[in-house]
Amino acid sequence: MAHEVKTTCPYCGVGCGVIARLGDDGAVSVKGDPEHPANFGRLCSKGSALAETLDLDGRLLHPEIGGRRAGWSEALDLVAERFSHAIAEHGPDSVAFYVSGQLLTEDYYIANKLMKGFIGSANIDTNSRLCMSSSVAGHRRAFGSDTVPGVYEDLELAELVVLTGSNLAWCHPVLYQRLSAAKANRPEMKIVVIDPRRTMTADIADMHLAISPDGDVALFNGLLAHLAASGVIDRNYVSKCTSGFDEAVAVASRLDLPAVSNATGLTQAQLRAFYRLFETTENVVTCYSQGVNQSAAGTDKVNAIINCHLATGRIGRPGMGPFSLTGQPNAMGGREVGGLANMLAAHMDIEKSLHRDQVRRFWGAPAVANKPGLKAVDMFRAVADGRIKALWIMATNPVVSMPDADAVEAAIKACPFVVVSDIVRDTDTARHAHVLLPSLGWGEKDGTVTNSERCISRQRAFLRGPGEARPDWWQLAEVGKRMGFAPAFAYNSQAEIFAEHAALSGFENNGRRDFDISAHAEIGGTAYDGLKPFQWPQTRGSTPQQRRFFADGRYFHPDGRARFVAIEVPGPRRRDAAFPFTLNTGRVRDHWHTMTRTGRSARLSGHLAEPFVEIHPRDAQAIGVSGADLVTLESPHGAAIVRALVTDRQAEGNLFVPMHWNDQFASRARIDALVAPITDPVSGQPASKHMTVRAGRL
Ligand code: SF4
Repeated sequence: MAHEVKTTCPYCGVGCGVIARLGDDGAVSVKGDPEHPANFGRLCSKGSALAETLDLDGRLLHPEIGGRRAGWSEALDLVAERFSHAIAEHGPDSVAFYVSGQLLTEDYYIANKLMKGFIGSANIDTNSRLCMSSSVAGHRRAFGSDTVPGVYEDLELAELVVLTGSNLAWCHPVLYQRLSAAKANRPEMKIVVIDPRRTMTADIADMHLAISPDGDVALFNGLLAHLAASGVIDRNYVSKCTSGFDEAVAVASRLDLPAVSNATGLTQAQLRAFYRLFETTENVVTCYSQGVNQSAAGTDKVNAIINCHLATGRIGRPGMGPFSLTGQPNAMGGREVGGLANMLAAHMDIEKSLHRDQVRRFWGAPAVANKPGLKAVDMFRAVADGRIKALWIMATNPVVSMPDADAVEAAIKACPFVVVSDIVRDTDTARHAHVLLPSLGWGEKDGTVTNSERCISRQRAFLRGPGEARPDWWQLAEVGKRMGFAPAFAYNSQAEIFAEHAALSGFENNGRRDFDISAHAEIGGTAYDGLKPFQWPQTRGSTPQQRRFFADGRYFHPDGRARFVAIEVPGPRRRDAAFPFTLNTGRVRDHWHTMTRTGRSARLSGHLAEPFVEIHPRDAQAIGVSGADLVTLESPHGAAIVRALVTDRQAEGNLFVPMHWNDQFASRARIDALVAPITDPVSGQPASKHMTVRAGRL
C-alpha cells in the first residue's frame, strides 16, 4: 500500500530530511522534508536522485563463504569461531573492525561495544578517519571535548563567512544553497573562499584566496599575530576562559607578513585585505572541511583557526565560531559512540581510567580496552605485516578509498580471514572476502544519524530488505552472542540500542561531558519510531534550550578553560624533481564515495562521466596535453589514467583529481593508488590533498 516516511539522506554531513514515497506500483519518489531543520525542503542533485539508485542489480542477497551461498547461522558461526580463535591464539589486538560513516549510530554502537568492551581491543577504526579526524583532534585539544560549537543558522547570521578547504557548492550543496540565499538577502554579507582551486564555491565569494597547498597554518598564524597587533583581542574572554594565549601569539608572530606571503603564495595586499576584514567584522564563521583535515598538519590547521576565534571571543554566539563540516552522513554519530580507535563511547576518553571504569560498569564488560587501537592507515599496515589475523570490514570499500590503495589491496588479499558486510556483492574489497554478509541499504535500514550541527535524525525503512539482507547491528550482535557475550548483545530492535546509547551518554555525567542525550534513555519503540530531529545536548529532565556550546565561556578541560595551541608553521614539503606536480584529490558534485550507489543513476553519471584531471593550460602545454587527451598520472605508490580537463581554475603546478572512480567504472582509475600513506601525527588522518606526482600524455 502506498505510504510516505520521513527519513534522512544517506550522503553528506548536511543530513537533509527526505520524504520518501512508496507508490502502490512499488515506485519510489523522494522530496525534501520542509520541516527538517537542516534543509527546510531543499535537496541537492544527489539527494533528489535517491530513488534512481535503489534497483537491486548487483546486490548481495545471501551470506557467502568462499564464494558459495551459505546460511546465516553457518556464516555467523564461522565469523565468531575465527575471531575467537585469533584472539585465543594471538590476543585481542590480533583482530580488527574497519567500519564506516555510512553505518547508522545503532550499528556503530554495537561494533564499538563488541570490540572495545568485550573483545578488549580498541582496534576499531572507521573511514571517518579519512574524513574529519583532524577536526576531532583539534576540538579535543582546544575545547577538551569533540564539540562542534555552532549550528547551520550561524552561516546565515554571519557578516563574514570564511570557507577554507571547503568546496561547499559541491560537497555540502544544501548548506551552500542556504548560504547563497542568505547572501542574496543581505548582499553586504562577505564570503571569503580559501582554496588552491577556483571552485564553484569561489563564484559567490567576495574574495578568493588561491592559497598554496597546506599554506593554512601560516595564513591563520599570520591572522592571529595581526589580531594581537591590531588590538581586537577580547582580553576579558581570553583571561577568564582560556589559557596559552601569549605563547600561541609569540609563536604565530615569528613569521612577518612577507614570510606569510611566501608560505601561502598570497600577495601581501591579499593578506592585508583578508586580515582587515576578519579584524573589523564581529560576526565571523570559519567553516573548514577536507582541505583542512586531510593534511599532514591537519590538526594544527584546525587549532590555528580555532585560536583566532578564541582570541576574539567569537565562538558559541549567533553568527560566529569555527565550524567543522563533516563529510559523511553519520561521521558525527560514529564519534558519539566512540567509533574512532582513540575514543570511547559517549565522548569518553580511552586514556582516562575513570572513563574506562564508567564504560566497563555500564556495559558490565569484562575487558574495556585500555589503550588506543590502530588508526586506519596503521591498521592496514598491521594487516599487511600479519599482526591482524581477522578483519571485519563494514559498509566501506578501502581497496578504493584508502591511501596507497594497491598496498591495502595486497594486505587484505593476504589476511588470513576477512569478513565484508556490504549491500553490493562485487566491490573491489568484497572480492577478497572469505565471508560476505548481506546488509540492508538506505530505505531498508532503520536507525539514527547525526549531522554536522549535532542534529540527530531518524533514517527510516520504507522498503523490504532484499533476499536475506539483515541490519549491520544484528550481524554484530549475533557474532557477539556466539563469542560468549550473549546477555550483553540480546537486542530485539534498534530502538533498544538507541535507548542504551542515550542512557550511557548520561551515565555519571552531570555536565562533565558535552555529549548527553539522556533525555531519550527510556525511549520505547513507538516514541523512537516517531522521533523528530533534535540537537544534542538533551539532558534528562531538562528542557532543550541550548543550541550552541561555549557562549558561557565554559569548556571541558578540567579547569574549564579552552586552550590556545602554539603552532609552528610546517616547513615546505621535500620535492622530488621526478614528480613535479602537486596532486589534490576531492569530490565532484554528483557522486558519492566509490560510486556504488550514485554510479547507478544515469542522471548523476551524466554530470561528469569520466575520471579527469584538472590541469592549468600552461602545464598542459608543457607536457604536450590537450583537452580530453588521456593522461597518465604516476606517483611512487601507483598510477592511474584519467581524461585531461584543461582549465585556469587550477593553479599552475597543481593538479586536481576526483577520488570516486574505481576499476569497475573506468580502467585504472583508482586515484588513491597514487596517494602516499602520510598521516597527521596527532589525528592519524591521511594527507590526501598534497602529494607529488608526474603527468604525461598516454
Ligand atoms: Fe543529501 Fe548532502 Fe545533498 Fe543534503 S546536501 S541532499 S544531505 S547529499
